[in-house]
Amino acid sequence: MELNELTARQLNERLQKKEIKAVDILESVFRRIDRVEGQISAFTSLDKKRAIDVLSSLDKKGKTEGNSSLYGIPAAVKDNICLKDGKTSCSSRVLKNFISPYSAAVIKKLEEAGSVVFGKTNLDEFAMGSSTETSFIGPTHNPWNIEVIPGGSSGGSAAAVAADEAIFAIGSDTGGSIRQPAACCGVVGMKPSYGLVSRYGLVAFASSLDQIGPITKDVYDAALVLGVIAGSDRRDSTSIPDLPKKDYTTSLSAKVKGMRIGLPREYFLSGLDSEVEEAVREAVGLLEKSGAEIMDISLPHTEYCLPAYYIIATAEASANLARYDGVRYGYRTSRQMDLGQMYERTRGEGFGDEVKRRIMLGTYALSAGYYEAYYLKAQKVRTLIKNDFDEAFKKVEAIITPTIPAPAFKIGEKIDNPLQMYLSDIFTISVNLAGLPAISLPCGLSKGKLPIGLQIIGSYLGEEKVLNLAYAYESQTDWHRRKPKLT
Ligand code: GLN
Repeated sequence: MELNELTARQLNERLQKKEIKAVDILESVFRRIDRVEGQISAFTSLDKKRAIDVLSSLDKKGKTEGNSSLYGIPAAVKDNICLKDGKTSCSSRVLKNFISPYSAAVIKKLEEAGSVVFGKTNLDEFAMGSSTETSFIGPTHNPWNIEVIPGGSSGGSAAAVAADEAIFAIGSDTGGSIRQPAACCGVVGMKPSYGLVSRYGLVAFASSLDQIGPITKDVYDAALVLGVIAGSDRRDSTSIPDLPKKDYTTSLSAKVKGMRIGLPREYFLSGLDSEVEEAVREAVGLLEKSGAEIMDISLPHTEYCLPAYYIIATAEASANLARYDGVRYGYRTSRQMDLGQMYERTRGEGFGDEVKRRIMLGTYALSAGYYEAYYLKAQKVRTLIKNDFDEAFKKVEAIITPTIPAPAFKIGEKIDNPLQMYLSDIFTISVNLAGLPAISLPCGLSKGKLPIGLQIIGSYLGEEKVLNLAYAYESQTDWHRRKPKLT
């Protein structure tokens, strides 16, 4: 196998034994990028020189023993996460030429662990979408079938990992944007509990829902990267204070005997693709055989998740995106007459249709007279949804659902039908509303040879249980080893 095909854990072993150098890994990744990026378009920008400089100085130090397991492993990072002196475009015309003056907390943490960012990955504009089609540079293609979407909004990160153009990647998840593309591309994606990973330097979409997390080739690497990026941060007021430093790999165990797992009946209703249902039920069967106790549970407010999310997320987005006014930074129209027109034209020309749709929805939901009817109501529904999970976790230790209702669809198929597009996240959104941790991992391939994802949801700060259960499933299957056939 080429180095770019390996996991961070496997590469770390080789580095420790001095069989390879850190720059060898990067060279291998770039050979792959040269070969397949033309078909995939996973990246918005690449900076090989910067990465080589950092890695060769690590190689010169030559001391890898005892170092973090991300030492020398290059990272691909979603382009809504700030990298000092690098472009952070959010795949939007508004930030096309924006150079960030500082690095996000997660990037600092990756760098402290000996990793280096070599590329920024494509996303739906400002992370609003489920297909990576609304990016102003054009869509990313799914490595399993380049006519199909990679999922979104972290589609670039998921596709890069699936195509072996990256060893691991970082994404952000507001309503499913790590897990849904991970499922579509047949890789592992994890959304941590709200507040576990600092949002400092993540360009805000919906601040009460956004979380950063890893996209990796297997569950072990997800645990590894999570341990590096998690932690308290005073610069993010919603970061959980006094978190102890944790290495999630040390507690990984494949034991599930006696573990109580809930299957929420509301997630297995009509509308779920039969191949997806079959793959998920098979996965559950496997865990049952290993000694897990499977229970039927109910999350009664599930049908309200989507409407509540699209009120809360758009309301917060309308406030967060008010800053792109052509004055402080980013794009400014060249056709300005007076100040009002400058604002209007800048925003009119700078934002794409989906972003504008959300700003209008959110502004409406927050406007005087409608605030109580929409925003406040949605917040109350959000509490009910969270309560459903609290009740469920009194009975079970983890919840299993499909990640996506159907395998990935064709590029262009849903772009003109926002409601259909919004339904792609029907199984992932509840987790963000409730602030819980969840992972998606591959559990099958459809007849059309497209990946299917299994979602495991844990209780608040129950990352270890989620990872253990995922690890237990993964150790008995080889879906995560399947690779798309790209030439
Ligand atoms: N697809 C959802 C949306 O469009 C979720 C996006 C995300 O998680 N960033 O809002």
